[in-house]
Amino acid sequence: MSDVHDVIIVGGGPAGLTAAIYAARANLDPLVIEGFGAGGQLMTTTDVENYPGFPDGVQGPEMMEMFRAQAARFGARIEQVDATRVDVSETPFRVWVDDEEHRARSLIIATGATARWLGLESETALRGFGVSTCATCDGFFFKDKRMVVVGGGDSAMEEAIYLSRMAEQVTIVHRRDAFRASKIMADRALSLPNVDVRWNALVDEVLGDGKVEAVRIRDVVTGETEDLPAAAMFVAIGHDPATSLFAGQIELDEEGYIVTDGTRTNVEGVFACGDVQDTVYRQAVTAAGSGCMAAIDAERWLETADLEPATDAATASA
Ligand code: NAP
Repeated sequence: MSDVHDVIIVGGGPAGLTAAIYAARANLDPLVIEGFGAGGQLMTTTDVENYPGFPDGVQGPEMMEMFRAQAARFGARIEQVDATRVDVSETPFRVWVDDEEHRARSLIIATGATARWLGLESETALRGFGVSTCATCDGFFFKDKRMVVVGGGDSAMEEAIYLSRMAEQVTIVHRRDAFRASKIMADRALSLPNVDVRWNALVDEVLGDGKVEAVRIRDVVTGETEDLPAAAMFVAIGHDPATSLFAGQIELDEEGYIVTDGTRTNVEGVFACGDVQDTVYRQAVTAAGSGCMAAIDAERWLETADLEPATDAATASA
């Protein structure tokens, strides 16, 4: 049986590690179970130019290393292992890493979400070199160039609208003859003079040597292929929140995201932050901001909740 921590943080991206910095500085002895995918989506991001405080930009993995070092400096215990099971039916909450059980008076969930990819080899090879899932992050690098957006949902419309402000031309490639997106978003995208659509089209391959030069699409009706010249391809076919551990225990929306009020979930003492509960902003800086909020909310909740105090041994283990 393990000691009882004040707080366990599950997830080690910008949200989880910011929660760890705040929780550690508040003397809450946080244990961060950051997962094998430690660092989250920024680990596969090259230049980050929109995180305040880095006027010359920073590499995603380098920034996450700084987040970890800062959390560790204040005593957060960070374990690069996957949480395999969680029980929030009673306090202390329990989190398992295989057979090892950890207990805590409060829990912060920061397991994030992953963008869906098409699954093409050329897409993987050119990721970070013109292939991206985040227009806000990477659009600027391709200013005045032609760009392709893949998808037909609200995200694809949003990406196309955003990119139209800087691109020479944005071509939306959608696999059907109708958008899934809301009418208002679709109408807005289609009304833009530099946005066009290739309906009934699939991406066969991303072309380019070291950087994206064109996108090969195939008409699913005629079978004909066409190479669209483009400097970038933005894949906007949805995200998958990492919430399988919590299904049936914590309220999720129909897409699988954790439902939050601020950072509070429907289970008292369990908080969520970052992309696992955010379908709107999905930025490193907003994830970090909500991580800070979750740690402060957990701290205030611990102060007022009628709970057994954390054990001395857990406090000493930090
Ligand atoms: P989504 O609604 O699930 O749309 C995904 C789109 O990608 C669909 O058009 C789908 O095609 C296409 N797609 C999926 N897999 C594909 C593949 N392998 N190859 C080619 N195309 C593929 O996802 P989303 O756009 O990210 O939106 C998720 C949720 O967030 C929605 O509820 C949305 O309304 C919401 N959202 C709202 C806003 C806003 O209101 N501002 C902005 C963004 C997102 P099919 O249509 O053929 O299935």
